[in-house]
Amino acid sequence: MLPFKLVYSDDYYLPIGAHVFPAEKYRRIRQRLLETGAAEAADFVSPQPASDQDVLLVHTPEYVGKLKTGMLSAREELEMEIPYSPELVRAFWMAAGGSILAARFALHDRVAFNIGGGFHHAFPDHGEGFCMIHDVAIAIRRMQRDDKIRTAMTVDCDVHQGNGTAAIFAGMRIPNDPLPSVSRSLLGQAPARMRNAHAGDVFTISLHQENNYPAWKPPSSIDVDLPDEVGDEDYLAWLDNALSSGLRQFEPELMCYIAGADPYREDQLGGLNLSTEGLKKRDELVFQVARARDIPVMVTFAGGYARKVDDTVTIHCNTVLAAQQVFAVGA
Ligand SMILES: [Zn+2]
Repeated sequence: MLPFKLVYSDDYYLPIGAHVFPAEKYRRIRQRLLETGAAEAADFVSPQPASDQDVLLVHTPEYVGKLKTGMLSAREELEMEIPYSPELVRAFWMAAGGSILAARFALHDRVAFNIGGGFHHAFPDHGEGFCMIHDVAIAIRRMQRDDKIRTAMTVDCDVHQGNGTAAIFAGMRIPNDPLPSVSRSLLGQAPARMRNAHAGDVFTISLHQENNYPAWKPPSSIDVDLPDEVGDEDYLAWLDNALSSGLRQFEPELMCYIAGADPYREDQLGGLNLSTEGLKKRDELVFQVARARDIPVMVTFAGGYARKVDDTVTIHCNTVLAAQQVFAVGA
């Protein structure tokens, strides 16, 4: 039995037909965790779909109305890059409900997973890049509305920048709290760079490949723009640096780790060069930092487009194993 919950629903499946996004990955992750004995049936809990009221904590009434009534324009549907259907709306509402439940469990158990979610390209008024609504932002706003947290930090390790997250949480400067500038020379030769912007009640960190979607990257609180082909060692150094810098500036009551599998070297939509082992070290690093500072962590899975879907499943399952190692009772 795991010392944390895995939130999962068969309804996470995205009815999008033949697509680079492996919609069946959620079911396969659950199956693999059970088959390998990493998890047992009792570790899984089923979510309820988010309510429209929850979704409206982040998204505009106009956009939610269009989604509920099937009134997206052809252009809006194209930008979302997945074919609209009422079933798809249900799947995204369920993923958001899953992230809300995972956030609640994380606050109770120190860590919890949504075996799905991480739709970080959704904006308040439109969807993009396979993302209809932003489940993580909805979960954060719901926890704040319920007075369970005031502040949160997103740690986005998907290979693509978290543009929706940055746009949703931008702008609210904390008065009388100047942010220290970050040393850019800490890692010497690395051609990657770290950019800082003002944080509000949610501090956003994104480590991503600069030369990749989205072309326009609205500023996160910390953006680490990585050059193509970055490998394990440099990636882990930058992640460590970004986490330390972020946690010097901000004390979150909840960490939302967006554990994309697409920095993997065999990814079809990514151009970084991480190994499966490197990705597991990445997960361990995030969990170790959160544990050392006693910050609850909610995990979502975001992207993963490895040539073999099996590899994507392995990388996501490894994130569960990393949490198990770091958060094991007595560890
Ligand atoms: Zn991605």
